[in-house]
Amino acid sequence: MAVVIGDTCINCAACIDECPVEAIVDEDDNPTGEECYYVYPDKCVECVGHFDEPACAEACPTEGCITWDMPFTAEYKSYFEGDNYHDEKPYVCEDCDTEQPFREDISIEDRQAHKPVVED
Ligand code: SF4
Ligand code: SF4
Repeated sequence: MAVVIGDTCINCAACIDECPVEAIVDEDDNPTGEECYYVYPDKCVECVGHFDEPACAEACPTEGCITWDMPFTAEYKSYFEGDNYHDEKPYVCEDCDTEQPFREDISIEDRQAHKPVVED
């Protein structure tokens, strides 16, 4: 992944059109059944090669809603196969064999802690 949208999401739609790779879906298409927007971890590129910062988080009005998550690489694939989404639900991926770029300046510790992408 990437980034994850938390359950404080207010379904405002500010993020969805900002994503350069169409990794975000709304609550109606959230494959986990949660009533919030969802980032497909196998599609999110952390805006690497597109913007200086994750565009979704820059657009989000809800403080701390979009947080860092683990890189979607072979090394961390088991994380996305486990019950690590909201309320211990599993993530849903469309192409689990893929790997995606990630921001190496964000530490694994900050990702594990789900540090907000945008901090005041
Ligand atoms: S970080 Fe960038 S690529 Fe990832 S979901 Fe947000 S806008 Fe899309
Ligand atoms: S901008 Fe933030 S609050 Fe609005 S739909 Fe996206 S994640 Fe949810």
